[in-house]
Amino acid sequence: MSDKSFNPFKMAQQQFDAVADKLNLDKATRDLLRNPMREYHFTIPVKMDDGTVRIFQGFRVQHNDSRGPAKGGIRFHPEETVDTVRALATWMTWKTAVVDIPLGGGKGGVICDPRVLSMREQEQICRGWVRQIARNVGPVQDVPAPDVMTNGQHMLWILDEYEHIHGGQYPGFITGKPVGMGGSLGRTEATGYGVIYTVREALKHLGIDIKKATASVQGSGNVAQYAIQLFSKLGGKVIAVSCWDNKDKKAYTYACKEGISSEKLLGSVDKFGTIDPEKAKKYGWEKLDGDAWIEQEATVLIPAAHENTINAENVNKIKASVKLIAEGANGPTTPEADVVIQKKGIFLVPDFLCNAGGVTCSYFEQVQCNMNYFWPKEEVLEKLDSKMTSAFHAVLKMAQDKKVYNRDAAYMIAIQRVADACRLRGWVGL
Ligand code: GLU
Repeated sequence: MSDKSFNPFKMAQQQFDAVADKLNLDKATRDLLRNPMREYHFTIPVKMDDGTVRIFQGFRVQHNDSRGPAKGGIRFHPEETVDTVRALATWMTWKTAVVDIPLGGGKGGVICDPRVLSMREQEQICRGWVRQIARNVGPVQDVPAPDVMTNGQHMLWILDEYEHIHGGQYPGFITGKPVGMGGSLGRTEATGYGVIYTVREALKHLGIDIKKATASVQGSGNVAQYAIQLFSKLGGKVIAVSCWDNKDKKAYTYACKEGISSEKLLGSVDKFGTIDPEKAKKYGWEKLDGDAWIEQEATVLIPAAHENTINAENVNKIKASVKLIAEGANGPTTPEADVVIQKKGIFLVPDFLCNAGGVTCSYFEQVQCNMNYFWPKEEVLEKLDSKMTSAFHAVLKMAQDKKVYNRDAAYMIAIQRVADACRLRGWVGL
């Protein structure tokens, strides 16, 4: 995200345009789907702990709601831009469509750094965010969720403020809530576990025994943590994990040939996913450069941090041992890197399929809230596995039938579903 010349929205549009050509979409449908339907930009005044007032910039982008209410997380990041939010909202539309859940695509954000804000200040940002947008979001309009550096606590503050404004209980307004407060069991694990359900299926397809597979993971936040947990549980070995160190303001990769156990990893990260260097040293993990995760002799690479991390500069560093790339993050691979990955013949599980477990479980959370009846964790995870597995196989079949790259196959399924919904509603077409 620090590369100022990288524009994720341009990348999302470039990916869309390529597939729109393959699908022969008419001009009106293209113009509709390559842009967000609505977007909101607003200021959030916050009284800081030191008595000063700071004005934060907030966004909500609703890319498309033809298949259901817009759906997507709220990110807190100091380098947030509206183009990042636009790209992520667009990817949410494709994500909910590829797993075939009745929701659209949206995303929100606030330019702020929660790592240097108190909990009280963060609460004020959450409440201020929803005060500015309360008329334009809701269970039947647009349903937020956690994303980068936000969690269940943030969601609950947002819900509480929304319920004060609207004078009622609206648990279906927001997902990723804490368990016991309208949250679903399994939601915390869902994105990372969903990544590994697709990894499991991809390895099966490639004829690779997961017990002999190794993985190098970029990121050590929620998605990475639970991906590592399930990959290890299924017998795979994680040999490297990279993380952001907020003290040094740079990333490091921790590597260990014998394997990094998920228990040790979970025991050595803080709430933002930074690995404690002292603990890493004690466990004998080698401390390498932040980019070293991509150069590891692993079977699987799991970029699970943020956008633009596999690009023209580093894609050629990927070792021949790598047979699979599973995109836990949104938008980690640039179109230039995609060309090289295709040429190398590496099997790729594209982001909006690979990390769709989070929003799929959010949908289950909404369903449970609507029924006011909550399922046991095993039931949630079983339903999640079945959704992810069938979406994976639908994409694989499309890629094989049409002889296209997996990313294009996923896009073809998703874009066609959304284009059909827009046509059936009479928004486009004759
Ligand atoms: N923020 C997650 C994503 O990018 C989850 C969104 C949701 O649950 O609505 O998919």
